Amino acid sequence: MVLGTYKEIVSARSTDREIQKLAQDGGIVTGLLAYALDEGIIEGAVVAGPGKEFWKPEPMVAMTSDELKAAAGTKYTFSPNVLMLKKAVRQYGIEKLGTVAIPCQTMGIRKAQTYPFGVRFVADKIKLLVGIYCMENFPYTSLQTFICEKLGLNMELVEKMDIGKGKFWVYTQDDVYTLPLKETHGYEQAGCKICKDYVAELADVSTGSVGSPDGWSTVITRTDSGDSIFKQAVEVGIFETKPIEEVKPGLGLLEKLSAQKKEKAEKNIAARKEMGLPTPY
Ligand SMILES: Cc1cc2nc3c(=O)[nH]c(=O)nc-3n(C[C@H](O)[C@H](O)[C@H](O)COP(=O)(O)OP(=O)(O)OC[C@H]3O[C@@H](n4cnc5c(N)ncnc54)[C@H](O)[C@@H]3O)c2cc1C
Ligand code: SF4
Repeated sequence: MVLGTYKEIVSARSTDREIQKLAQDGGIVTGLLAYALDEGIIEGAVVAGPGKEFWKPEPMVAMTSDELKAAAGTKYTFSPNVLMLKKAVRQYGIEKLGTVAIPCQTMGIRKAQTYPFGVRFVADKIKLLVGIYCMENFPYTSLQTFICEKLGLNMELVEKMDIGKGKFWVYTQDDVYTLPLKETHGYEQAGCKICKDYVAELADVSTGSVGSPDGWSTVITRTDSGDSIFKQAVEVGIFETKPIEEVKPGLGLLEKLSAQKKEKAEKNIAARKEMGLPTPY
């Protein structure tokens, strides 16, 4: 299945005005982790917090809604959230942990849960894994190239970055700048070329913007617990939802992009094998 196994797919957004303003898309990640905190489903969550340098995230343990909100928004570079999980358990004493992860991190976490070498008392504490879609990621120096060199801006002026509709979008307080994606190609992290997972297939709940209108997210519930937490949150009014069949561009685009990513990765993996290079599968 091109989108992995799942229970349901809907278009959704947070009903919280503050989250709507801070979030990248529909505020599903922040809203769902905040709901899980409030309900005692988790005691804290590892998220990509603001780092010392602008737009260079640092993993942090959020134990309040305000801390979750401070980490809202997409940073298009690595945030080694997985490294922080051990610290969250050992140093913060968290017994029920939530986290947000891109697909490769989601795979790492599931692997740690299945083969818990050295992380036996960490991996089993993860109670809610929210996965976000990811087509590719960039080293921080690539972001500096886009923002500083190509657009002539300072990193601290940037309020939001986004990828969509064939462009890399940069928002400042007064203006919107774009780069065609052909200008960002070649700056991606090399390892992303052999990544086959677009929609965080192993998460409890996966979410991303593709498929839904601006300000909304496409939400895929996958595990029993993920499905039930999301549905409880909808029931108490944390999220509003629309059937995915009723929104544009809809599921077709998500399926198309996911299939394209898999095909491209297969080709790159085959090419690596031919050259005798190591491959992940
Ligand atoms: C590198 C990257 C590539 C992406 N590519 C796509 C794509 O091709 N298509 C698509 O639909 N969506 C993509 N997304 C996901 C999308 O940008 C949003 O993150 C997602 O829709 C969640 O939005 P939200 O409003 O629910 O989250 P918010 O409520 O804004 O919360 C975002 C959460 O993501 C965490 N986060 C931010 N940056 C990172 C990071 N680098 N690594 C790990 N966690 C992070 C934050 O800590 C926060 O908890 C990508 C995200 C990343 C990080
Ligand atoms: S494309 Fe794959 S390997 Fe690259 S950052 Fe995204 S999930 Fe990770």
